[in-house]
Parts: sequence; structure tokens; C-alpha cells
Amino acid sequence: AKDTGGGSHYRFEPNLHAFAEERRKLEVSLRNALGRDEFILHYQPVVDARTESIVSFEALVRWNSSEHGFVSPGKFIPLAEDTRLIVPIGKWVLRQACFEARKWPEHVKVNVNVSPEQLLEPNFHQEVIDALSASGLRPERLEIEVTESIFLRDASIARNALEQAMALGCSVALDDFGTGYSSLGYLRKLRFSTIKVDRTFVEGASQGSNESFAIINAVVAMAKSLDMTTTAEGVETSEEAELIRNLGCDKIQGYYFGRPMPADDAKRLFDDNWTR
Ligand code: C2E
Ligand code: CA
Ligand code: CA
Ligand code: CA
Repeated sequence: AKDTGGGSHYRFEPNLHAFAEERRKLEVSLRNALGRDEFILHYQPVVDARTESIVSFEALVRWNSSEHGFVSPGKFIPLAEDTRLIVPIGKWVLRQACFEARKWPEHVKVNVNVSPEQLLEPNFHQEVIDALSASGLRPERLEIEVTESIFLRDASIARNALEQAMALGCSVALDDFGTGYSSLGYLRKLRFSTIKVDRTFVEGASQGSNESFAIINAVVAMAKSLDMTTTAEGVETSEEAELIRNLGCDKIQGYYFGRPMPADDAKRLFDDNWTR
């Protein structure tokens, strides 16, 4: 780094530079990733809390970069959102998920994460129609997952986009509920079919936190009165599953019932006549 002549400032500059440089390299690779076929989707089961049968799979994108190896979504999704690369990536995710879900039994849905930037694109509605018609997936089998961040800016555009998808027959889940900017007001703004209770509360409740316990209880009661269902995220043990069941959550997702898996493995669960 060049000498900027500052005492303590100078010491930190190389690190900041390395950070920016690393990010720039990642961005260049991310730009090429779609063309190089470097993404795949993994699918994690969502089960009915009472019967434990699979009601849906959540599609979770995986990036195996030729330059950086496996990069976690926690790292590249925020970068994709900042650079708007999430728009073409998200479009690919949506189509791929619809095509793969088409091979599962009719009663099994697919949950697809959608970023705010995608909803602000005027094309989003058409992309949903195209993905459904090209794959032949019934709209009722597609559930779009959004976080409360869609209400932070241009809320009416995002809401319109989701309402158009709902008019087709798709459903919308509110993801990561209770983290971030939670406001109960959001629940009045859109007819969510599902509220996903974040893992932090599941973990808290299982570690004996009365606050977490009370919050899950309240969310379940509120969802019921709003005619919405609840899914508990990140359930890792049989004890947590039992606790969540007793709290009245409708659906459970987490390592205890299945880790995110390649499409072939997800499909095979049904081919092997897997029933419970
Ligand atoms: P998310 O939507 O909240 O997805 C759930 C995350 O929790 C996934 O991490 C999943 O692998 C992880 N998880 C599931 N069960 C358990 C469990 O029992 N314990 C623990 N500790 N973790 C569990 P993943 O796959 O690394 O994805 C991270 C985030 O990246 C997602 O959080 C989502 O916000 C984003 N993401 C992933 N795929 C997509 C995508 O296709 N599009 C968009 N826009 N975002 C995506
Ligand atoms: Ca999600
Ligand atoms: Ca989540
Ligand atoms: Ca999350």
C-alpha cells in the first residue's frame, strides 16, 4: 500500500485493502458463475409437525466456484444483492426449483427464497409465470419466501409483485420472523400463508429461555388468529422437535429431519416409496 503518511491509519490500510480486493475477486467470479454452471440447488425437507411427513422442500442455492471453491450463501448472497447479480441468479433459482419440484409428488411444495431486488424488477411476475409454465408446476406448489426487509423501501412495489404471484395461486412465507426489523404491522400488509420462526428462538427455548418460549407461543397464537401457519426453523434434536410440537407449530424444518441435500437425493426419498 502506498504511504498515506498517517500513524495508526497506516497500520489498518493493508487489511482494508485486502478485504476490498478479496471482495472484488469474488464479485468477478460471481459474474461468471451462472455462465459456468457453478450453481446447484440443495433441498431441505419441511415436515408436518404431527405426522412428520414431508410437506415441502426449501431450495437453498450452493456455489462451487472454480476460483474460490465452495462459497457459503451467507457470504455470496449479500454480495449478489449489493451488485444486483441476485436478479439473474434468482431467476435461475426459481426456474431450476420449479423444474426439480415437478418430479416430486403433487402434494409436495417447493419453497424459494426471493430477495427484495428481484421483487422490484418489473419482470418478476412474468418470470414466475414463465418458470411455472415451462416446468408445468402448478402455482399452488410454489411458496415464495421473503424477509421483512422487503418492507423497508419501495414496499408497495414489492407487495404488488407478491400479490400478483398470489393471484396466480402461489403462496408467500415470511422468513426469519423475529429477527431484524420485526413489526407486527407487516402482517397486516400481505396475506402470508406461513410465518417462519427463526432458529434463534428454537435454540433459546430449548436452552430454557422463558422469553424465547413466550415469543414462540405468541407467534403461534397470532398466526392462528390470522389464519396463517407456522414453521419452526433450525430444529436439530428430538428434544427441540418435541418442544416445538408442544408449542403448536404446524411445520418443522431443521437438521433433525434432514439437511439440505442434492436434488437427486430429495427425489429418491419418494422413489423409494418413502412413507411415514
Ligand atoms: P434461510 O432462508 O433462513 O435458510 C435457512 C438456513 O438455515 C440455511 O442455510 C440452512 O442450511 C440452515 N439450516 C437448516 N436447518 C438448520 C439447523 O437445524 N441448524 C442450523 N444451525 N442451520 C440450519 P444456508 O443454506 O447456508 O443459507 C443461508 C441463507 O442464504 C438463507 O437463509 C437465505 O437467506 C440465503 N439463501 C440461500 N439460498 C438462497 C436463494 O436461492 N436465494 C436467496 N435470495 N437467498 C438464498
Ligand atoms: Ca428461507
Ligand atoms: Ca429462515
Ligand atoms: Ca436466515
